[in-house]
Amino acid sequence: MYDPRSKCADDFINHEEIMETLEYAEKNKHNRELIDQILDKARLRKGLSHREAAVLLDCDLEDKNQEIYALAEQIKKDFYGNRIVLFAPLYLSNYCVNGCVYCPYHAKNKHIPRKKLTQEEIRQEVIALQDMGHKRLALETGEDPVNNPIEYVLESIKTIYSIKHKNGAIRRVNVNIAATTVENYRKLKEAGIGTYILFQETYHKESYLKLHPTGPKHDYNYHTEAMDRAMEGGIDDVGCGVLFGLEMYRYEFAGLLMHAEHLEAVYGVGPHTISVPRVKRADDIDPDTFDNGIDDDTFAKIVACIRIAVPYTGMIISTRENQKCRERVLHLGISQISGGSRTSVGGYAEPEPEEESSEQFEVSDNRTLDEVVNWLMGMGYVPSFCTACYREGRTGDRFMSLCKSGQIQNCCLPNALMTLKEYLMDYASPDTVEKGLKLIQEQIKEIPRERTREIVQERLIEIEKGNRDFRF
Ligand code: SF4
Ligand code: SF4
Repeated sequence: MYDPRSKCADDFINHEEIMETLEYAEKNKHNRELIDQILDKARLRKGLSHREAAVLLDCDLEDKNQEIYALAEQIKKDFYGNRIVLFAPLYLSNYCVNGCVYCPYHAKNKHIPRKKLTQEEIRQEVIALQDMGHKRLALETGEDPVNNPIEYVLESIKTIYSIKHKNGAIRRVNVNIAATTVENYRKLKEAGIGTYILFQETYHKESYLKLHPTGPKHDYNYHTEAMDRAMEGGIDDVGCGVLFGLEMYRYEFAGLLMHAEHLEAVYGVGPHTISVPRVKRADDIDPDTFDNGIDDDTFAKIVACIRIAVPYTGMIISTRENQKCRERVLHLGISQISGGSRTSVGGYAEPEPEEESSEQFEVSDNRTLDEVVNWLMGMGYVPSFCTACYREGRTGDRFMSLCKSGQIQNCCLPNALMTLKEYLMDYASPDTVEKGLKLIQEQIKEIPRERTREIVQERLIEIEKGNRDFRF
């Protein structure tokens, strides 16, 4: 039976509830009166239930869809302003014992080169990432208790945080590793991770079992209940996501929001982020073999509806998407993007030879970080390398309450401007420097509090003198 408070996956991601939600949405997709009511509720910026959001996703009244997009854009502006946080993935190892049919790292793939970075190689990768200007990483590994045990991940995190090359530093390490035990989540928390990210891939249990035919990931309930164990282990910032294209997007959308409702109901804090990857071509993976691929319009609608349904949850898009697609969804709700990414094991310090590629998927946006920063500013966005919140202890419900009261806004813009200035001083090309300095001068005026404005001005001068890592 559907119960968001239950800790059993079959209850909080209840199949019957999703099917009824989809039926309800289908029945009401032209129901102007109901759609208006839902939009009025959404304008309060307190979010929507999965049923309400599903109706908006299905809505096919053109004028109402325009209202949905406009509202998503407005909510994005109100909560995130024009800031976009940047990060890069770092693949530690592609050894994997699972059989996921959409990922080239599946255990049966005998021809993809298997690689695992040594601590020295991690050092080289991190130096290369720091030299690009990155401050925030997402660690990725396959699941393999022999090759990638938790001790290896913990040691790697320690190595990453210890490297201070020139003015560089990785200040936040988010971790995307397989579902694990409460004890291991506790260890990750103690290692100082930012967000624990785990994609559900699909919430549809029957499909899930087929798409994950072998390995520990086959256990749907263990995987789906991972965030509960992470919370029990003390990690209060978790990142959810599905791999769009595996199952019906409407089903995934409802499941994703039900998962958020469950975390909110039981732990008082929903997901910190939601990612929206789509299946992409890779070594032995052809995305056309999956029947549920979604086009760019549907993708944009999903982003807009998630933005409206969970206004406080950051949304992430990776270099799986090309520049055009990323441009389109940025203003509809995305708050974090990756830039200059390599999706191979290693590859930042030295590019991999093509014949030895260990890529997890083909990158669709191959621009450098500097090009991405420049492009964002050209569109009026403020690229941010901020990592302040978890370092100031603003995680979980503390973060959410600051977010809900709007107070977080007093930190985000000042931090964005100061970290952008660091980037300009240390890593940017001349054209990016010119654009960036101008942008900072314009944006300072937008900081509401006079005293904060003065402090930021002072710190920007300190950054010019070579001092680093100021934050609110
Ligand atoms: S998706 Fe993750 S668990 Fe599955 S094969 Fe790829 S690396 Fe392994
Ligand atoms: S202040 Fe916190 S919420 Fe704002 S950008 Fe920095 S880390 Fe994110």
